[in-house]
Amino acid sequence: MKTENKKCESCKKDFTIEPDDFGFYEQMKVPPPVWCPHCRLLRRMAWYGYRILYKRKCDFTGENIITFYHPDLPVKVYKQDVWWGDGWDPKSYGCDYDFNRPFFEQYKELLDEVPKASLHTEYSTMINSEYCNAASFQKNGYLCFKHITGEDSAYTNVALNTKDSLDLAYSADPELCYEIVDVRKCFQTFFSQDCENCQNVYFSRDLVNCGDCFGCTSLRNKNYYIFNEQYTREEYMKKLKEFNLGSMKNVQKFKKQAYALSLNFPRRSTMGRNNTNVSGEYIYNSKNTHDSYFIADSENVRYCQLFLKGGVHNCYDFTAFGSASEWVYEATWTGLNTSNVKFSIWNYRNHDTEYTFGCHGCAYLFGCVGLRKAEYCIFNKQYTKEEYFPLVEKIKKQMDDMPFVDRRGLEHRYGGQMPIDLCPWAYNETTAYEFFPLTKEEALAKGFAWRDPDEREYLPATIVVPDHIKDVTDDITKEVLKCEACGKNYQIIQKELQFLKRFNLPIPIHCPLCRDRARIKQLNPIQSYNRKCDKCDVTIQTSYAPDRPEIVYCENCYKQEVY
Ligand SMILES: [Zn+2]
Ligand SMILES: [Zn+2]
Ligand SMILES: [Zn+2]
Repeated sequence: MKTENKKCESCKKDFTIEPDDFGFYEQMKVPPPVWCPHCRLLRRMAWYGYRILYKRKCDFTGENIITFYHPDLPVKVYKQDVWWGDGWDPKSYGCDYDFNRPFFEQYKELLDEVPKASLHTEYSTMINSEYCNAASFQKNGYLCFKHITGEDSAYTNVALNTKDSLDLAYSADPELCYEIVDVRKCFQTFFSQDCENCQNVYFSRDLVNCGDCFGCTSLRNKNYYIFNEQYTREEYMKKLKEFNLGSMKNVQKFKKQAYALSLNFPRRSTMGRNNTNVSGEYIYNSKNTHDSYFIADSENVRYCQLFLKGGVHNCYDFTAFGSASEWVYEATWTGLNTSNVKFSIWNYRNHDTEYTFGCHGCAYLFGCVGLRKAEYCIFNKQYTKEEYFPLVEKIKKQMDDMPFVDRRGLEHRYGGQMPIDLCPWAYNETTAYEFFPLTKEEALAKGFAWRDPDEREYLPATIVVPDHIKDVTDDITKEVLKCEACGKNYQIIQKELQFLKRFNLPIPIHCPLCRDRARIKQLNPIQSYNRKCDKCDVTIQTSYAPDRPEIVYCENCYKQEVY
């Protein structure tokens, strides 16, 4: 098999399919893709709404609930405990497949009709964590998103194994950490990024095995450094006290100072550690992993994103969250012991399933919605094993013979993630918007839906937030604050106040969503550029655009300088 050049049916740009790719498609028994990798990624991420929450009534109990399904959507939404319970039967929505109509037209009807879980968590693993979404195994979590395993954590986004940590993004195994991005196995680390195995670190970037460092960049195995200069323990402790971090003004000053200093040090072309034969950005402990972003402990994957937890093998076009998955293709938000899953959204513990939404612990499903522990179902209707396989083959053939035509006039046959026309979330409610922000006009032109923000008057703040934490009383948790960036109201929770007091850090002046978005902006983009190594001039692939101010080194030059 040789490299094939194709024109993307969506953006009309050229893309290539390489010999190894064909091997994967053959193994998965799928046709080669007709959309380019970028259009496929955008579509998968646009199927990943999770962060924008609304108030709505439960369509089963009538209670007020929090959900990420907008109240105007014509779908039924059940409270999580009801949805996961036995009080309703998703198979009662089962129907015969109609060979005279396109597959996705019928699937959309089923998708709209079967009740939705108010939030998408693995509910049985959640304890006292009712405001978390896209999460599993949480205890006392608050506003934790895309988060596997957490204890007493809050305001997280893409996180794993967190303990007593707040305000973090894309981080694994933090304990008592605050305002961190892409941090691994760190303890008491604050306002820092790209660090690993560190403790008592502030305003730092790319430190490994360091302790008691402040405002540092690219250090290994160091202690008591301030702005990359060595101090004695006594001097360090004295200085740290003088920095007076309980004041927001000081925090903001040090943030700026540390960032400015970091620009004097080289960045590595690909952020990651302990890899063999990989390309992409933020890749850890992986092998043969290409064109991927935020991947850990994976092997033989391409075009994959957002796996903080490992054991992902032989997967292509798979976005979040993996966790012991193999042979997955064109899936979003799928994982926890998953194998041979295609074209699906929000699934835990499935194998041999295609075109499913919110099905869990299932096997041998085709075109199903909301089933649990089911086998051999098509459009939520039960078949025997003998009936199932021939009928699936017949439907796949019909999908090719009678393609679904979307609102842009594009045809969808068997073999790609579900058309975005079916998606309940607007583009600006999803993960796609965070990495590829579009204007309303651009999003609509690309076939995505858009949701204008709800018209709402926000209350004036009931308190002027003191600059210094020492001037904050316990009553602040009863006050209404107003975000200095977007004007929305927000509150300080008890756990947060205790944490900030304990570590002498100021009360945040922005709402949780603005803080979250700011952290995501600190990440490098999901984009690859050709650029020259700033030391040896060799051409490198990197997510640093050529016009960015950072000094970027190839892996060899970086290792010579930093290690
Ligand atoms: Zn394209
Ligand atoms: Zn805000
Ligand atoms: Zn170089």
